[in-house]
This record gives sequence, C-alpha cells and structure tokens, in this order.
Amino acid sequence: MKVISTVLDLLFPPKCVFCARVLNKTDEGWCDKCTEALPYTNNNGKQDGDVFDFCVSPLYYTGTVRRSLLRYKFKNASYYSDTYGKVLAECIRELKNSSSFDAGYDIISWVPLSKKRERKRGYDQAMLLAYKTAFELGDVAVETLKKAIDVQPQSELGDKTERSVNIKGAYVVSDSDLIAGKRILLIDDIVTTGSTFDECSRVLLASGAAVVICAALARGE
Ligand SMILES: [Zn+2]
Repeated sequence: MKVISTVLDLLFPPKCVFCARVLNKTDEGWCDKCTEALPYTNNNGKQDGDVFDFCVSPLYYTGTVRRSLLRYKFKNASYYSDTYGKVLAECIRELKNSSSFDAGYDIISWVPLSKKRERKRGYDQAMLLAYKTAFELGDVAVETLKKAIDVQPQSELGDKTERSVNIKGAYVVSDSDLIAGKRILLIDDIVTTGSTFDECSRVLLASGAAVVICAALARGE
C-alpha cells in the first residue's frame, strides 16, 4: 500500500488546502506560509447571536480562506474537512481553556443541508466539518436538525432581515428527546449575519435544548 500511496503522491502531490501550493513532506494539510499568514480572527472571532449565545470562528472569510471554502463547497474538495476540522477543533479547545466565558456543551452537531442540495453536491459540507472537528476533540458529532425545505441559498441574499425571512421554518428537530436539557455546539462552515445559526437555535431551544453555542470555520469581516 505504501508503494501505491507514494505513486499517487508523485502523480497528484498533496497541496495546501488554503493556497493550493504543493506541500512539503512534513506539512499536514496546509503549508508553513499559510500557517503564518492566514487571516486569523482575534479572541476566536467571538460574536453574539440574537438567539444563540455566541459564535466563534478562527478565520475570516476572505482571500485564500474564501477561495479554499469555495473549492470545498463547489469543487468536490470534501477532503479539506480533515484540515478544517483540525483548525476549528483548536479554536474550540482554546475556548474551553479560556475562563472568559462558559464554553461547555453536551452535544456537537451541525447546520444541515437539504437532501436535494446534498444529492447535488454529493456531501454535506457542515456535517463533514462537524465529524472531523468532533474527532479531533475526541468526541462524535450527531444529527440534531434536518432541513425540511429547500430555500434560496443565504449567500445569494443581502442583509440580515432578508436572510432571516428566507430561512424561517426551514429546519426541524430530528429527535427532541436527544436534545432535551442539553447544551448544543452547532457547527457550520461560514457565518455571516448569523441568521442561519439563529434560526437553527430557535428551533432547538423551542424543542427543549438548554443552550446553543456555535462555531464556524470562517466569519464575515
Ligand atoms: Zn498554503
């Protein structure tokens, strides 16, 4: 198997998930240059929600991060979730170690795609990210929500009001017994206005969840 993987590496050399440069043998998923120069947020990119408690994001959605996430979502680069999971897990680990606010949670979950969109894309990018992030944290991610209706992509809409109206009623809880009294950590790839996280949180809290905190790999500036 080692021979096969060596041949594959020669034919398709592993590239940095962010800048797409060919990696050195010692690099794992991303290059030294990106490690130094990515658009990192301060204070874990913490922002408060209207419904969820707060959301953290290690990166800003700009430059190489934006281009990388577009490949992840639209160019079949689902394996980027391995590296993204490491970056997001590190952010959550830092949060748990900081005493500035309560970052406890009982369940790791994600903002789901509609079945129609998942079939088209071939994978649910937030679910993969949640799986990998949970794995890095020595945990597992479980489904708490389903997207019941396919709405217009939030990225095609403008301000928060427009996005809130668009997403209202799109999600339903998968299993209310599972979430009753639980603190949920909800994961998505990108957060911009927070209206998707707010709507997911509204549905989870209405079905008995105690608290919802959120984490996204990248946030709007
Ligand atoms: Zn790079």
